[in-house]
Formats: sequence, structure tokens, C-alpha cells
Amino acid sequence: MKTDKHNLSKSATIEEIPLACSNELAAIEFFEFRRWGNTPCCVRCGSVYVHKMVDSKTGQRNKRYLWRCHDCKEQYTVRIGAVYEESRLPMRHWAYAFWRAATSKKGVAALEIQRHCQISYKSALFLMNRIRFAMAPDNRNAKKLTGTVECDETYVGGKPRFKGMSKRGRGTKKTPVFAAVERHGRIHRQIIADVSGKTLKDAIREVVDNQSRIMTDDYPAYHGIGKEFAGGHESVCHSTNEYVRGDVHTNTAESSFALMKRGLHGIYHSVSKEYLHRYLWQFDFLWNNRKMNDGERTIAAIKAAEGKRLMYKQPLAS
Ligand SMILES: [Zn+2]
Repeated sequence: MKTDKHNLSKSATIEEIPLACSNELAAIEFFEFRRWGNTPCCVRCGSVYVHKMVDSKTGQRNKRYLWRCHDCKEQYTVRIGAVYEESRLPMRHWAYAFWRAATSKKGVAALEIQRHCQISYKSALFLMNRIRFAMAPDNRNAKKLTGTVECDETYVGGKPRFKGMSKRGRGTKKTPVFAAVERHGRIHRQIIADVSGKTLKDAIREVVDNQSRIMTDDYPAYHGIGKEFAGGHESVCHSTNEYVRGDVHTNTAESSFALMKRGLHGIYHSVSKEYLHRYLWQFDFLWNNRKMNDGERTIAAIKAAEGKRLMYKQPLAS
């Protein structure tokens, strides 16, 4: 029987995470184990001929938690190559922020992370932005949505320019967001430039497999899309108050938008158009991993952070 204090069972994960959030050594070992399991290896050359560096006076682990590789002679830490590489924030704060971001259904505000970790607001924003980036879908490996796929669009943020604006929000400063969601499955949401037929159909073609069955409301922009999908296209006529006809409805897409909006309005208050995509990454991640327990979902977010160094422009804070 393996007696390593870490293991991958679900309950152990739930016990380990709070400890990793309060003790720096526990946090470092938590991230190390998630990354390397029981076989630590060099982040530069992949060699397993590595050792933890030790402080010569105390015999304890090196203060910076460095490792050294015997093959390439490089020193490194568990931060290298992940979203936390360019940060000097303690790893216990990363553990806490990952935990909260992956387990709060409506999202978690940077202000709350600032208070709980006693770090600056700038640092808390830095943490949350990197974590949302870790949660972003890996488009290189993305599998298109299949089966029955509900497609819908909504508007987020901004104020209507005038009262009595059209239901679709046209002529306002709101940002249009498109969603395609498999019944009982995965979701994909993205900001779109407008709600024209061309834009919406392009969005569907890009993320939905052509064997699928498409469901929408009766918005005219979707007309004609059925020819391109083996399962065809069916719509409910919202304009005449028809919301469900047999198994034809867009309730899944609509409830996904409702959940997203509660998060955006309740936790984030106002999200500018410029940053909205990051919140969509987070909400999609939560939706796509909703069947996992909290520990598993936290680990999934941490795993997703590996190999994703920041690749977007953002003033650095630490
Ligand atoms: Zn090496």
C-alpha cells in the first residue's frame, strides 16, 4: 500500500485543499503532487534525476522551494511553465483562489479574494485573471458540440440607450453573447460582433458538429441553418409565447444565460466588454465540469493551468 500523504481520492482532495490554502509548504507540495505525482521531473529537460534543494543550516527545504536537475543542472520551482510563473504571490493564495473560482457557481469576486488572502486588490485581480485564463478552452483540442444542440443569443452589460428598446437589444451598448449548448452536455459561449444571420450562423458552424440537431427560437437570423446539419433545425416560436413543443425548446441555453447573468450582475457588478470573454471562460468551465465534485473541479482547473503561461497583455502585479 502506498503511504504517500497525498492521494487522488476525492475526499482526500477536499481535506488537502484547505490546508494548502493556509500553509505555504503544504501549498507547494499540493501543486507539486498535482503536477508530478510521485515522479517529480525537471521542467526544463524532463529528467527524473532531480532533488529538492535543502537549506544547509536548517536542513529544511530551500526557502524558495527550489528543485535542481542533475542532468541539465538547472534550478526550478513548480511555478515554471504555469500561469503562476510570473507571480511572486504565495502559492497558498493561488490554491485558495483556484478553489474558490472552481467551486463558486456564480463566480467569485476579486474583492473577496483580496479580503480573505489579505493581498492588494491588484494582486487579487492578477490571480483571478490568470485563473480565468487557465479555465479558457483549449481550442486546439476542442471537440465540436454534438447531439441536440440549443443555440441562443443574449445581451450583457451596458445600459439601453432608450426605453422600450427592442427585446434583442439592438441599438444599445450591450454586448451580444452567443451560446451553443448540448442537452445534458457541454457549452460554448462567445462574444459576437452582432446578431446578424451571417454572424450567428458562422458561430454555429464553428462550434457545432454538422451531424447535430439544432434548436433555436424563432429569431429570423437562424432561418435556413437546418440545411447544413444532418439532424436539421427546429425552433420554438417565442414571439407567440410558444416555449416548448415536445422536446423542442431552448431552455438549457436560456438557463445557462440566466446563471451567467446572476454571476455577472451579483458578483462582478459590471464587466466591461473588453474583459467579458474571461468571465465567459470561467462560466463555461463551471458548466462543463458541473458533474465533478468540488475537489475534482479544483484539480481540473489547476491541471488546465499547466503549460499555459500568460499570453495576453496585462499589467503585471505581484
Ligand atoms: Zn533538467
